[in-house]
Amino acid sequence: VEVRGVTVSAAKPAVMCGPCAVEDEARIHAIAARVAAVGGEFLRGGAYKPRTSPYAFQGHGETALRWLRRAADAHGLRVVTEALGESDVPLVAEYADLLQVGSRNMQNFALLKAIGRTTRPVLLKRAMAATVEEWLLAGEYLLAHGAPGVVFCERGIRGFDPSTRNLLDLGAVALLAHVHRLPVVVDPSHATGRRDLVVPLARAALAAGAAGVMIETHDDPGCALSDGPQAVPLGELAAAVRALRGAEARP
Ligand code: PEP
Ligand code: MN
Repeated sequence: VEVRGVTVSAAKPAVMCGPCAVEDEARIHAIAARVAAVGGEFLRGGAYKPRTSPYAFQGHGETALRWLRRAADAHGLRVVTEALGESDVPLVAEYADLLQVGSRNMQNFALLKAIGRTTRPVLLKRAMAATVEEWLLAGEYLLAHGAPGVVFCERGIRGFDPSTRNLLDLGAVALLAHVHRLPVVVDPSHATGRRDLVVPLARAALAAGAAGVMIETHDDPGCALSDGPQAVPLGELAAAVRALRGAEARP
């Protein structure tokens, strides 16, 4: 899948990093600078956040999209960000290079059709209880309605054990990569919920054939407005990305 001059494929795995949510302008600029410095291609960050509690921080919306775009442009990065509802799609498409469909929306068919119609490439997160077939068919919805390409994203399915936030399904990653020959990236941050497991599972994902990794980072994880426990501290991002080298699957 081509995203503004970058091909997302296992031949050269993409590095997508950024905060869970875009919190303020100075912060997203500092994070973008570091993501570019470590060789990342994509800046991630939520402007519209799908939160379990309606009382939790919901994102800064259009203001955050503007901050995110400016920060990415200043550092030569591509923007990946989520459209939470059908009505946000036109606006998010103005700012995003890769439109994200969140886990909780994987089978929101009206949203998938609206996103397809923007003709932007899409990052499609797997729902926490979706079969691979349901995930692939959600991808077909996007393609059938105009998306030029779909990058699948495995972010952990719901397991029985709260030791990790979710259960990273590397079998599904290998199935998509090696059998279906589709680009699939892995999000070890939401999969584990713990920053100390991000690097080992990112390496495992690449070995399984992933076309990239999506990693949450924050300059001050203890004060993050969402998902602090899984954020790699910005000061440790370079070492984390360096640790991924050599983990790629052999062709
Ligand atoms: C995210 O990547 O910002 C996110 C909310 O992830 P998920 O949809 O996988 O929970
Ligand atoms: Mn998050």
